[in-house]
Amino acid sequence: MYKSPYLNRLLLKTKNQYPEQKEFIQAIEEFFEAMDLIVEQKPDIEANAILERLLIPERIVTFKVAWVDDANKVRVNTGYRVQYNSAIGPYKGGIRFDKSVNLSILKFLAFEQTFKNSLTGLPLGGAKGGSDFNPRGKSDNEVMRFCQAFMAELYRHIGPSTDIPAGDLGVGAREIGYLFGYYKKLKNEWSGVFTGKDVAYGGSLIRPEATGYGILYFTEAMLKVYFKSEIKGKRLLISGNGKVGSMAALKAHEMGALVVGMSDIEGYIYNPDGLDVDTIVKIARKQKTLRPQYLTVYPDTLSGEDVSDLWKMPCDIALPCATQDEINLESAKHLKANGCQLVVEGANRPTELPAIRYFNENSVLFAPGKAANAGGVAVSNLEMSQNATYLVWSAEEVDAKLKTIMQNIFKQCYETAHKYGQPNNLALGANIAGFLRVYKAMLAQGIV
Ligand code: GLU
Repeated sequence: MYKSPYLNRLLLKTKNQYPEQKEFIQAIEEFFEAMDLIVEQKPDIEANAILERLLIPERIVTFKVAWVDDANKVRVNTGYRVQYNSAIGPYKGGIRFDKSVNLSILKFLAFEQTFKNSLTGLPLGGAKGGSDFNPRGKSDNEVMRFCQAFMAELYRHIGPSTDIPAGDLGVGAREIGYLFGYYKKLKNEWSGVFTGKDVAYGGSLIRPEATGYGILYFTEAMLKVYFKSEIKGKRLLISGNGKVGSMAALKAHEMGALVVGMSDIEGYIYNPDGLDVDTIVKIARKQKTLRPQYLTVYPDTLSGEDVSDLWKMPCDIALPCATQDEINLESAKHLKANGCQLVVEGANRPTELPAIRYFNENSVLFAPGKAANAGGVAVSNLEMSQNATYLVWSAEEVDAKLKTIMQNIFKQCYETAHKYGQPNNLALGANIAGFLRVYKAMLAQGIV
């Protein structure tokens, strides 16, 4: 229950309207906790139906993706693009290929992306898309045929000043290449319509590293302000050894932290003296799993099959970088009991709401993904800027800009949390600061 009857009414309406969209409803529920502090102070929000308008994406495109596999069998998947909000810039957000993809997950991700993109301070609206296609185990030709069939419809709805997709789970350099190549062929134009491209054809240096590096810059800023300390010597647990987790591990190692535990879909590994990050990054680059690959090199490493057991290991900082709903209340309690002081989300909403509440009530500082993992989309914007001007920036230049953006995001979340009387509640700060920019733009643009 919220203080505001307006919010209670809206939540109930959303639950009745979309009873099956549990991920989307959860995102709204959490977001409304922050809105509860401002809706009464700002009557313009209700008077202009700002939240009602924010609960419905501006456009959802759903389409059939038919393709032929290597055995000549016809396969059919569902494709989606949720163009959530374009108040502050063109739609921007990743494409996810995973068997779990459905409308609820994409609506939740696009909703979160809207506020994440707002926090970067850059002109980026929010979107997300994808398909229930799973690229794992498919041949390159199958992935190419699927990507072409997907783009054969999507190309009508995107463009360099309309909607600029990028990668996400299951969509990496290979998929982006095929998607971009087919868009270019269909439109007969080279435009920076996709970000995360290879540097060979318009990608930005540091884009592959950006989300992981950004998480560490954000963590560094948190440690400095809240604990007057630095990351050097801190013990880290990182879940997910994909594009985000592996690059977070690399930057953490460079900064002198000890990565003591990591996990991926097949289990976890742990060494209290620190894992060998170079080996971990090599495994990630080959898209292999830690068990058995890491264990082949270091057979004495403590490991287990149950991914959630990672959160039972002692640490100072936890970085959940795999996927949504990885840390439940039980894992949150284990983390606290074993010394964890900071949880920084690398994935999109990996922490369940009861766990977030537990962290807030038990002095574990928590940073939400929409703030901490915004480095990826921020460097996507830098890629768009380079494409639009036909320039190429050096890795140092991009990295320095990324660092400044992450420090600014932290500052906004921290100052907003302070202003609303909950200085340790960065999720609240992120939600309010992200919302205010979108709200001001919507108000200025009238009822559209
Ligand atoms: N998929 C990433 C995210 O969740 C990147 C999006 C982008 O670069 O557009 O933020």
